Amino acid sequence: MSGKPAVRTDDFAGPVLDWYRQFGRKDLPWQLDKTPYRVWVSEIMLQQTQVATVIPYYQRFLEKFSDIRSLADASTDAVLQLWQGLGYYARARNLQRAAQIIRDDYQAQFPRELEQVMNLPGIGRSTAGAILTFASAQSWPILDGNVKRVLARCFRVAGWYGQGKTMKALWDIAERLTPRQHTGQYNQAMMDIGATLCLKTSPTCEACPLCHCCESYQYGTQASYPEKKPKKTKPVKQTLMLLHKYQDRLLLWRRPATGIWGGLWSLPEVACRDDIDDWQRQHLSMTSPCSSISENLLKHQFTHFRLDISLAVIELDQLPAKVSDNEDMAFVAIEQLPEYGLPTPVRRILETQ
Ligand code: SF4
Repeated sequence: MSGKPAVRTDDFAGPVLDWYRQFGRKDLPWQLDKTPYRVWVSEIMLQQTQVATVIPYYQRFLEKFSDIRSLADASTDAVLQLWQGLGYYARARNLQRAAQIIRDDYQAQFPRELEQVMNLPGIGRSTAGAILTFASAQSWPILDGNVKRVLARCFRVAGWYGQGKTMKALWDIAERLTPRQHTGQYNQAMMDIGATLCLKTSPTCEACPLCHCCESYQYGTQASYPEKKPKKTKPVKQTLMLLHKYQDRLLLWRRPATGIWGGLWSLPEVACRDDIDDWQRQHLSMTSPCSSISENLLKHQFTHFRLDISLAVIELDQLPAKVSDNEDMAFVAIEQLPEYGLPTPVRRILETQ
């Protein structure tokens, strides 16, 4: 970093607020009729996903779960089904767990203290600050992905976000520059500047209200900040999914609540083709041969690894009786698949079969 930000708070926040009044986004669905619940749901959806993608999901979610109590009382399946396609499903599970805590410990009223909010599952310091500034008119700094990029460039903050000293430097700057008045507008503007001007590649500096004090603009170092995480090759994992078909039905299996795609319906999996018979004996009390195996049918990128999915298709002559005893397995008619929360890659595989 080039040292402490030399710019005064007013000289930084003033142009940001002026820009917001002229260009900031003011009519996003969660900006209308603001309540902590509505803002909270939007902040969680926006954590890994862009605004345009989030809007239809957000509207469907709010239609079904209009308040904390309805979300807390819902089945996890119903919540995951509405999250299907947004990815990062832990967000949905945490959202519901937090709603249950708020129902049980806070009489279904969203807490108002920063620390209480940060103690809820899935809510970090920045999200807690955003909810309380946007919905409760409090004054807290935020540091979401867009704001981090703007500050890292403006003040040439060294290091990448996984490093404690880099995050501390960014939080120090955010705390120093966030104004006590109009904090919600300022925070929204900083997010908007990051999302619309200070883009990852080719930022539009000439239109930016911060170009008068941005060190990266001054020195032409926009591409060097934020510094990238040192590259590590992602490990590759293999799995073999089993598609058991009986007439117009196929066998789905509900994944464990924790881990990837936790709680979603998927296809049974084994490590390799030698394990297929054992799996069938154990879970269906029968064995049937594979009619085909497609190797590496789909390669799916997770944050920390790549999953190469192969598919074995198994046609059955009869429905195995054992399935009916197990609530985590179901033979589902193809036209009923939309009612099940499935991971996107699995849905894509089923669409091609
Ligand atoms: S001047 Fe350019 S690099 Fe600096 S904050 Fe604005 S858009 Fe980003």
